[in-house]
Amino acid sequence: MQLLSLGEVVSKISQQEAFHVIGQVADRLGYDCYVIGGYVRDLFLGRPTADIDIMVVGSGIRTAEEFARQTGRTQALSVFANFGTAQVKWHGMEIEFVGARRESYSHDSRKPIVEDGTLEDDLNRRDFTINAMGICLNEEKFGMLVDHFEGLYDLEDGIIRTPLDPDVTFSDDPLRMMRCVRFATQLNFFIDEETFDALISNRERIKIISQERITQELNKILLSKNPSKGFVDLERCGLLELILPEVAALEGKEMRNKQSHKDIFFHSLQVLDNVAHKSDNLWLRWAALLHDVGKPRCKAFSPTAGWTFHNHDFIGEKMVPSIFHRLKLPTDERMKYVKKLVGLHMRPIAIADEVVTDSAVRRLLFDAGNDVDDLMTLCESDITSRNELRKQHFIRNFQIVRQKLKDIEEKDRIRNFQPPVDGEEIMRIFGLKPCREVGLLKARIKDAILDGEIPNDHDAAYALMMETARNLGLSPQ
Ligand code: ATP
Ligand code: MG
Repeated sequence: MQLLSLGEVVSKISQQEAFHVIGQVADRLGYDCYVIGGYVRDLFLGRPTADIDIMVVGSGIRTAEEFARQTGRTQALSVFANFGTAQVKWHGMEIEFVGARRESYSHDSRKPIVEDGTLEDDLNRRDFTINAMGICLNEEKFGMLVDHFEGLYDLEDGIIRTPLDPDVTFSDDPLRMMRCVRFATQLNFFIDEETFDALISNRERIKIISQERITQELNKILLSKNPSKGFVDLERCGLLELILPEVAALEGKEMRNKQSHKDIFFHSLQVLDNVAHKSDNLWLRWAALLHDVGKPRCKAFSPTAGWTFHNHDFIGEKMVPSIFHRLKLPTDERMKYVKKLVGLHMRPIAIADEVVTDSAVRRLLFDAGNDVDDLMTLCESDITSRNELRKQHFIRNFQIVRQKLKDIEEKDRIRNFQPPVDGEEIMRIFGLKPCREVGLLKARIKDAILDGEIPNDHDAAYALMMETARNLGLSPQ
């Protein structure tokens, strides 16, 4: 891993007035003071940094108060007395101040008993060596690196490792297991062997962590550049089985009559990475991860047809709400979107497998509405066949589908389809109450438009309605 040098990092810190002021305030209070954790890690990596953490061996709150007063930012100060921390907003960032602490854990909670501690104590309680580096801000030692666990080497080598015994670190706060996989995925790092073994042996401890926090880490994994890595790690250590059993169940191949189906887990991850390279949309990524989640429930083998997964799109769509509920993911239109994409993911493939007709494309546009572009992205990502000819066939036909989608949308505006003659109008014209005939007339008009028999306009729809009504023995009032 190409890192910035310590000199470069210190010069970046030195350019920020705030760090000097913090150092002077700490000097006056008689505290040792460091910028620490993720901020330091990201500086070495040259990664955009989120928030700044300041650790003082003393009172974090007093340091923050003094800093806010000195810089005339008392308005931007928030004190969290219960946690012994304080924050100051600074040019769109948050500077968080905390006193060095020592933590001790009880078995059934990730919330430690916290006491004031030394620099050592504070570094010992951190999750990974790459997150346990600090740079001193006191004037005399400004820019001195504190790195008790050789985090800089690990950063250079691309290794995630806990500072202390990983069994203790993970058992104390099992959320660190999710963070471990998440950092390995975001940074494309390798999880050290001993640390990985501790993931395996402590996996059951994840049960004491709130679902919201687990899901937050899953979302961060999904939003990484190559999310598949995180899911492979989660699967290998056994955490996936515990937090997302429906996806873990996709793993494996089965053999019958010398025929094997492809491993749906690895296929899904490939689709996920493909989607991730095309779109930042978290929900499209969830749809990619879950698109085949219905397959294990409808897997069947017949000597003539081989392996089949009939209706897996439909079954998968039905599984999405229970997964979203359990994971405490939003159950609003974002869940509906994922459901819809999972439910429709076979449609463009079915269309592209044959001669692409206008009518099929129009119906797809009608069902997918504004999400049709995302659906196409998902389906194009779903072509992971190793058969080059077949792949090319689909890619060509998807281009035709996309072109037709564009042409038809321009011409017929199906995306947000509203029937040009609606139920109200039908009932008024024929003096009907809601009844079967109204439904028949509406369906006839919709089908005629989607099949391209008539254009999507009022006059054509009206004429067709009249003709159909006559055949049904209806006459206008
Ligand atoms: P990101 O902001 O990308 O999530 P980060 O490393 O900055 O990464 P934060 O949650 O902001 O993570 O935490 C800041 C620092 O606090 C970490 O770098 C780490 O040193 C420490 N830390 C955070 N959470 C834990 C934890 N659960 N156990 C031990 N140390 C932690
Ligand atoms: Mg952070």
